[in-house]
Amino acid sequence: MRVLTKVASLALLMAAPLLARSVPVAEVSATRLRADVASLVSFGTRHTLSSADDPNRGIGAARRWAAGEFRKTSAACGGCLEIVLPENTVTGERMPRPVKIINVLAIQRGTERPNEVVIVQGHIDSRVSDVMNATADAPGANDDGSGTALVLEAARVLSKRKFPTTIIYAVLSGEEQGLFGGKLLADYAKQQGWTVKAVLNNDIVGNTRGSDGVIDDKTVRVFSEGPRADGDDALRAQVRRFGGENDSPSRNLSRFVAGLAPSSSGGLQVRQVWRADRMGRGGDHLPFQEMGVPAIRFTVGVENYDHQHQDLRTEKGVVYGDTIEFMDFAYLAKVTRLNVKVITALVSAPMPPAVQAVGAVSTSTRLKWHAVPGATWYRLYRRRTDAPSWTFVQLIYPGAPDKDGFFSTELIGVRADDWLFGLSAVAGGQVTGLESPVSSAVPGGQFAPLR
Ligand SMILES: [Zn+2]
Repeated sequence: MRVLTKVASLALLMAAPLLARSVPVAEVSATRLRADVASLVSFGTRHTLSSADDPNRGIGAARRWAAGEFRKTSAACGGCLEIVLPENTVTGERMPRPVKIINVLAIQRGTERPNEVVIVQGHIDSRVSDVMNATADAPGANDDGSGTALVLEAARVLSKRKFPTTIIYAVLSGEEQGLFGGKLLADYAKQQGWTVKAVLNNDIVGNTRGSDGVIDDKTVRVFSEGPRADGDDALRAQVRRFGGENDSPSRNLSRFVAGLAPSSSGGLQVRQVWRADRMGRGGDHLPFQEMGVPAIRFTVGVENYDHQHQDLRTEKGVVYGDTIEFMDFAYLAKVTRLNVKVITALVSAPMPPAVQAVGAVSTSTRLKWHAVPGATWYRLYRRRTDAPSWTFVQLIYPGAPDKDGFFSTELIGVRADDWLFGLSAVAGGQVTGLESPVSSAVPGGQFAPLR
């Protein structure tokens, strides 16, 4: 077996992913985002236990409107979107009677590997102070009208293009009652046999003023888990012994997004938050992580708790409630542009390779991996074990695989004990490269469920 290894001339401090493809970020419209949020608010409440049948008020009317928006988008691209409405009847602590949870999905099938999918999602349901109050006005403009509008707008912009792999635009129900829509979609993805490359959960992405008056319109936070939720005791033992607690696929997805941010979105920076979600709170990316699917959450830089989960009221001069006037649509447009860029990159690239590092009792390290469908070459990364980001790149052009189907490359004089290694898969040539996230050569580093 012969492998050519070329050393790249640049060691990059923050190695930005290759994305040699135009991204239609200029087409994202703050005006349309505002109109969508206004439409969502107009349904009065979108509480999961509110009316499913009323033509004007409640969760049912809101869902039908969202499906209608997807249908309009599909009509404009010659029927390129398939709209499906997976449902499940559930009960739970916050669901005292059986209620039908319905997700509204639009599927834009890939032209080459339609089974590989990227999901962009927000939740359409809303709430007030009492999570069981299904009748009071619950505008949910920012939580999560913002994420829902982002999903609808991403569909409008990206449906005009064709991509090798599939995009799922998802409007979820039942988040506030117990992440039911996220679980329903995670189960649906499994039933469909999809290989889910990434889930981008957008929840509260449209305000720039915090409850303490701090203003930040330049930061979006991206939350990712460290140790993977689907890991068992055997994996935990391996990670404890050999490392990998900072190298789950969700964590590498977060690094990938941060690498794409600086040039993408009008000055929006990513603050990576290396925990699964905010203190004491959750979101619809969590059910995917439980199933071993890489998933991250986008949320504003500064949250405003006066305008989340609140009854509409004024107390001691403070106005409470999640209403549209407290949102910043220029900012929501920036977060939408970043999502559009990340989706474009992910659906244009191959899957990240599952890679192993072999280097016990050796002054050299050998990396081995199987060929990835759609990949023409690979980029090898490494970093010191205490470094946060990938810092070194080599280009790998694989020769023929060995008799067991593995590609491999030898790093002479690189001691495996002292480094973490990662590999990305690239489609296209050196100038036209479209690169996947990096997959780490650690126990549990692969972009695939463990079970
Ligand atoms: Zn939310």
